[in-house]
Amino acid sequence: RFSTSVAAEEAIIPPVEIAYTKHLINGHFVDAASGKTFPTYDPRTEEVIAHVAEGDAEDINRAVAAARKAFDEGPWPKMTAYERSRIMLRFADLVEKHNDEIAALETWNNGKPYEQAATSEVPMLARLFRYYAGWADKIHGLTVPADGKYHVQTLHEPIGVTGQIIPWNFPLLMFAWKVGPALACGNAIVIKTAEQTPLTALYAGKLLHEAGLPPGVLNIVSGYGPTAGAALASHMDVDKLAFTGSTRTGKIVLELAARSNLKPVTLELGGKSPFIVCEDADIDKAVELAHFALFFNQGQCCCAGSRTYVHERVYDEFVEKAKARAVNRSVGDPFKKGVEQGPQIDSEQFRKILKYIRSGIDSNATLECGGDRIGSKGYFIQPTVFSNVQDDMLIAQDEIFGPVQSILKFKEIDEVIKRANATRYGLAAGVFTKNIDTANTLTRALKAGTVWVNCFDVFDAAIPFGGYKMSGIGREKGVYSLNNYLQVKAVVTRLKNPAW
Ligand code: NAD
Repeated sequence: RFSTSVAAEEAIIPPVEIAYTKHLINGHFVDAASGKTFPTYDPRTEEVIAHVAEGDAEDINRAVAAARKAFDEGPWPKMTAYERSRIMLRFADLVEKHNDEIAALETWNNGKPYEQAATSEVPMLARLFRYYAGWADKIHGLTVPADGKYHVQTLHEPIGVTGQIIPWNFPLLMFAWKVGPALACGNAIVIKTAEQTPLTALYAGKLLHEAGLPPGVLNIVSGYGPTAGAALASHMDVDKLAFTGSTRTGKIVLELAARSNLKPVTLELGGKSPFIVCEDADIDKAVELAHFALFFNQGQCCCAGSRTYVHERVYDEFVEKAKARAVNRSVGDPFKKGVEQGPQIDSEQFRKILKYIRSGIDSNATLECGGDRIGSKGYFIQPTVFSNVQDDMLIAQDEIFGPVQSILKFKEIDEVIKRANATRYGLAAGVFTKNIDTANTLTRALKAGTVWVNCFDVFDAAIPFGGYKMSGIGREKGVYSLNNYLQVKAVVTRLKNPAW
């Protein structure tokens, strides 16, 4: 069953040092204005691994002033797009060179499996930057055939100083999704990392400067949401805000933006994504994919397939196999080879997940396996599977953000469409079927920003990502993200002699 070899004394020492703990402002690592620091933890052991500069409003002011100067005085927005793209490409090369160190730091601070960080997430950071480096010199406006004697063109200009607030579940990827397109478009940035995971963004910031990024273009402030985050969202000299995190906090930052200078806001928020297994599905494959869709990254994915709808004809077999798969999931020290699941991020999430498990039991869902913590140290939770889940149960409605799979039964396609859409969220959905007509019906009917068919969590740099309903506003990645970081200026020039 579940590995219990996760006690602190057995934890593997990561092969990396923590070199960067201060804010990165105007190209320099600096202490907090207040001199304060806050602890950051190893979720395997609950022990402090570093003390990090704690930013508040004054640090945000300094970072915004540096970004403003870099934007207004250059050289960044005035560089050729080709030069900007070359810096981004050099950064991607440096990321590859330091792949294992960065991955180790990510695992140490976040608890995700080292193999996942080293073979997927750090390479995706490089890939994202190469993708957006490719866009830098292909951003341009249009000539517009307007009525009358006018020559009309649009200029696509950088928006200015962009504020970015990111969460802890994918610290490096969230950094890449936001910083990559903003830089390609020629903006200056102040990014506030999640208080749980400040370390890898600082490392990446150092590498970006090594690659030739001018000082002030990217400023990184560590700190808490209600202090540093709120100061950034409400800053009068920030021209745009991009946020990823909970729907609750998304509403707060949108309000702060509106109450200050009405900066445009993009939001990537929570989800309760359905994963629909049709009666014609290959059950073994469906079980494996549904397992991955939920348990990947300790269940800490905004798009986790957290409502597994299974057709009644294959339901019993599916539940048996889903349970067997969860019981065999290897949980332990994320630095160990073959470990699929590490600890949850922190004590707050850990307690919250255990509370949801309790609520599932209390509401008479069937606990097939798991349901408890593992060991007595570290935030490890048993892979948990509930069957007989009903739509109105809390575990089928709220974002649990943990390794808890909820399996629900359905009969008809029309019925499952209604039930899948009956949520305040609309981030993603999964469909598992061999029938092209069923797939087409579902992909068109589901109200979600992404529908994966016979696959899940495919995050290519070119594929847009974002939510319907309360899962967010706007899209990140792909060509769509460029719109978040550009102003469109229409230039209308009267023609003296339009006769030609
Ligand atoms: P959160 O939304 O509170 O935090 C995300 C980011 O927002 C962090 O950088 C945080 O410091 C910042 N923040 C918090 N309060 C703020 C404020 N008042 N003003 C400005 N910024 C603020 O999320 P969390 O507390 O880390 O996690 C809570 C829940 O959010 C999770 O259980 C999960 O359901 C969800 N979540 C979703 C995502 C996602 O990718 N959609 C990521 C992490 C967490």
